[in-house]
Amino acid sequence: MQIEGPEHEEGCQPEYTRKKEVVLTGRVHPGETCGSFMMEGFIKFITSQKLVAVELRKRCVFKIIPFTNPDGVIAGNYRVAFSGNDLNRQYANPHPKLHPEVFSVKRLMADSRQQCPDNILAFIDMHAHSRKKNVFMYGPEFPIHDPRYFLARVIPKLLSERSDIFRFYSCRFRVTKSKATTARVVMQREYGVLNSYTLEASFHGFFTEDRETIEFMPSHLYSLGEILSQGLFENLLMTEDHERQTRERKERQKRLAAAKQAGPAKGEESPSKVAGGTKTPDGRRQVKKAMIFDGPNKLAGHEDGVSEASYHEYITSPTMQTESQPVQLNTESQPVRQSLMDRFNLQGRQGRTLAMMSTEIHTEELKIQHQKNEGKTIDEEDVGSSDDQ
Ligand SMILES: [Zn+2]
Repeated sequence: MQIEGPEHEEGCQPEYTRKKEVVLTGRVHPGETCGSFMMEGFIKFITSQKLVAVELRKRCVFKIIPFTNPDGVIAGNYRVAFSGNDLNRQYANPHPKLHPEVFSVKRLMADSRQQCPDNILAFIDMHAHSRKKNVFMYGPEFPIHDPRYFLARVIPKLLSERSDIFRFYSCRFRVTKSKATTARVVMQREYGVLNSYTLEASFHGFFTEDRETIEFMPSHLYSLGEILSQGLFENLLMTEDHERQTRERKERQKRLAAAKQAGPAKGEESPSKVAGGTKTPDGRRQVKKAMIFDGPNKLAGHEDGVSEASYHEYITSPTMQTESQPVQLNTESQPVRQSLMDRFNLQGRQGRTLAMMSTEIHTEELKIQHQKNEGKTIDEEDVGSSDDQ
């Protein structure tokens, strides 16, 4: 099924003209019913009139395959399909007759990618886990010097902030040989989907903050629909900001290059005159500074209704983050800022960037590593447990 909403209202246009895509699959393992409860919760939430759902539908197309293995479910299998194969190990090279479901999911992904490369925001495959507690994710593996190391952890971190049910501690970001043919790994490697995950829900329950174990009821798993939607939405806002900043940086570089060329071409005009600064031997540096400060002056003139887009542009402006001179918030924008926080229920988290998230994730991982080094591994079932998926 495909779920999407109307186009953007004026003044609320994101960075891209084409909607991003989110692909969700479930029940490739017939016995893993927890995945279906999460899927049902997600479908109910994303088709609701809740504000986050409405905003997500404006920005994304949701392609959902709730039952990837219907034959297996009907036959009463626990893990395999009608052909006797585990479909979540056939993604690398599926056979059109033996594994038609996997073949079709891959064709769907290939079509999306052909229409618009890099447009798939996330791929999430919903499962259940028989050994570990809580809900958690398996994600892609990158070396720590690769920027994707942190980017791939942003959605799991955002989900863990919203509920005890989802636990960042239990997430793993590695690809062992036996997992190389699973859906999440193939989607990341063949179609370049960075946010490619297996979402696992325990068959048992979850730890509370007080280390109590609560057994899962369907309502807990349904709630993952809202948690996942909120996490995707905040990630999307940060991704939009990141893409805009990247585009602006490229434009600034282009303008700089053009100014550099235009300067000597006119002969008489020095670089300092182009920048509007004082004449120094280091003309190039002056030009760059003047160009950067061009941003907030322009934004200060945005008096005609502070739209959501201009708000984002303002608070995440590279100038605000990189220049040492503080930029004062326009007092008129304060009610708008508050209203956005209330509307999206982000309470002070609004305005976080992907770079800020990287720092938070790094701190979280150091904390986990420290606990392990001290021998304080808090979940005995996390030690040496197998990764179902
Ligand atoms: Zn599974």
